[in-house]
Amino acid sequence: IVTVGLLEIQGAFLEHRVALQKAARLLSKPIDLHLVEVRTAEQLRPEMDALIIPGGESTTISIYLKRNSMEEPLRHWVQNPDHVTWGTCAGMILLSKLTENQKQGGQSSLAVMDIDVSRNYFGRQVQSFEADVRMSDSSLNKAFKKDTFQDTFPGVFIRAPAILELLSDDVKVLATVSDPNTGAEVIVAAQQDNMISTAFHPELSEDCAWHVYFLEQIVNKKAT
Ligand code: GLN
Repeated sequence: IVTVGLLEIQGAFLEHRVALQKAARLLSKPIDLHLVEVRTAEQLRPEMDALIIPGGESTTISIYLKRNSMEEPLRHWVQNPDHVTWGTCAGMILLSKLTENQKQGGQSSLAVMDIDVSRNYFGRQVQSFEADVRMSDSSLNKAFKKDTFQDTFPGVFIRAPAILELLSDDVKVLATVSDPNTGAEVIVAAQQDNMISTAFHPELSEDCAWHVYFLEQIVNKKAT
């Protein structure tokens, strides 16, 4: 049994449920996937294998976490090496160590992943867009392999953040996208040990390769 919690405070968590069920059927070895909602500190059970922090609005989610004394328990849960955590969009912002707000002494995040994130990186000119995300790591090949090898993924970006800088060598880049405003290649997915961050919303694409990749991380961790 693989138990995945979804932080169901605000944002796109229902779509993640659908994508995870679909991805579970695509794994080479079928798993018994158990999805649970997480809205309280008590629901952050230690025996849960993984957690998704969905996209939405990072300030709203962060205020909820503070009001419900969930910030510290969540940080503690994520830092447990037995757990896998995936933050999408607002979830990426919440996992990041540095955001422009924090540099100005503002809103905090869980500060567990060594990445410097710009909260609304694409926001000024382009609110939302779809673009092919380029996978940069060969370990992703398996999850993204269909009939033929694919090295791009249709990314849905909604007021999306981007990673400005990796703050330690432990972080590896998983994917980049060409910034529609400038044409520059920017980092939009990264992994540090048991934490994955994506700036786009993979749960809104038909292709559930990222969910397959996420489930594979959990299965591999449980096997070791
Ligand atoms: N930029 C948004 C924020 O600051 C995140 C947008 C999203 O999750 N789609 O929270």
